[in-house]
Amino acid sequence: MLQDTVADWVDEARIGAALESGRKEDAGKVREILAKALELKGLRLHDVAALAAVSDAGLLEEIFATARKVKEEIYGRRLVMFAPLYISNLCKNECLYCAFRRSNTGLTRRVLSQEEIAEETRIIINQGHKRILLVAGESYPGEGFKYVLDSIATVYSVKEGAGEIRRVNVNVAPLSVDDFKSLKEAGIGTYQIFQETYHRDTYAKVHVGGKKRDFDWRASAVDRAMLAGIDDVGVGVLFGLYDWKYEIMALMLHIAHLEERFGVGCHTISVPRMEPAMGSDMATSPPSPVSDADFKKIVAILRLAVPYTGFIMSTRETAQMRMETFALGVSQISAGSRTNPGGYADDEKFEASQFQLGDHRSLAEVIKDVSELGYIPSFCTGCYRLGRTGADFMDLAKPGLIKEKCGPNALSTFLEYLIDYAPADVAEVGERAIAQELDDMLPKTRRVSERMIEKVRSGRRDVYC
Ligand code: SAM
Ligand code: SF4
Repeated sequence: MLQDTVADWVDEARIGAALESGRKEDAGKVREILAKALELKGLRLHDVAALAAVSDAGLLEEIFATARKVKEEIYGRRLVMFAPLYISNLCKNECLYCAFRRSNTGLTRRVLSQEEIAEETRIIINQGHKRILLVAGESYPGEGFKYVLDSIATVYSVKEGAGEIRRVNVNVAPLSVDDFKSLKEAGIGTYQIFQETYHRDTYAKVHVGGKKRDFDWRASAVDRAMLAGIDDVGVGVLFGLYDWKYEIMALMLHIAHLEERFGVGCHTISVPRMEPAMGSDMATSPPSPVSDADFKKIVAILRLAVPYTGFIMSTRETAQMRMETFALGVSQISAGSRTNPGGYADDEKFEASQFQLGDHRSLAEVIKDVSELGYIPSFCTGCYRLGRTGADFMDLAKPGLIKEKCGPNALSTFLEYLIDYAPADVAEVGERAIAQELDDMLPKTRRVSERMIEKVRSGRRDVYC
């Protein structure tokens, strides 16, 4: 039992030594690592340290160019879309960077009723979304964690016109194995949890009250989720708390630990940077700020290190920053988001938000912009519904086969969005992007895509392979 609650794989001395030896590598060695990355088998800890130490502008550009190639090879131009759904901002913890923390008396507290959750869901569906990320602080009203389970059931129960939410991912505080089992039974897609920082001293300094003070309970959460049978898990770091180089090395150790113990690593990595949050001095001036240039470096290095893991970027980042990082490795983005419970129904209640958004565009505006850049927004939820999760997903992804499934699924779900929800100008740009994507496909994948597209045009919905 002990190994389910102690994270002894967070080995600070090992990370320190690897960063030290990585700093000694020359340009020749860096190029060797980049050549290895193109084999799409991922990188070792030492390789990541060597790339993190690069500061020469020319060599950095080589890292970016390699990351772009790997991203294109595995993911093509697809970008999976989702919307966060905040159900409650009650919280018993004291995370110094978060507006939801217990002592923040200036924040308007709000716990959505099941009817209000249904209303938020209807609005999100009417924007055109098919997947949501359900988020809550660590304090549940009424019968405790059952509130979250009921909320998931409510989201899945809403049918609105031709639409519905087909995948609910969840970002809530760490649970016991039994509670994780209930979460699995509720039919969630991915369970997400960010360690915030893998550096124990920093963790202790910024989490000063509540259950979240326990570093090991949090760092071992994914183990318990996997023991409960949840095999799509997402991890992340809140960049800005501690040295980003240390953090990406620790992420590598976390993934290696999961692979060793469960035979599969994480499904996604989230890369939030700290944003200003109401009542938090720390969020306005983070202890270890990450510059835009370093942020791009983080995305590129991780893309090379774990090529088959999806990267999630939220509306914390500005539109400009998101555009630049798509090409380097980001594969999922949120759009049209609100981070306050009830925020979709009532736009004005920003004093209840978790943090400030960097990108204020609506889903339709984001879709138009990314399609104009040649990306294909995807609303696909096929893998999880066909049981392609965990190791099964990775087995399919690793030989590059995922492109054969994801490409057609992206086009059919994008077209569904264009027909059912897009304003005319967005539909026009989107149709052009679909035509271009079909032209660039291999003949076999194109045939599959065209058959699925035909079904959607003739009125069928939820077409996937
Ligand atoms: N309360 C749960 C927890 O902490 O695990 C889950 C939801 S919490 C609202 C989701 C994430 O928001 C946290 O893990 C943290 O990384 C992020 N977050 C908190 N404050 C933030 C800020 N000021 N800027 C950006 N992200 C922040
Ligand atoms: Fe609560 Fe999560 Fe915010 Fe911490 S990050 S104060 S646990 S909502």
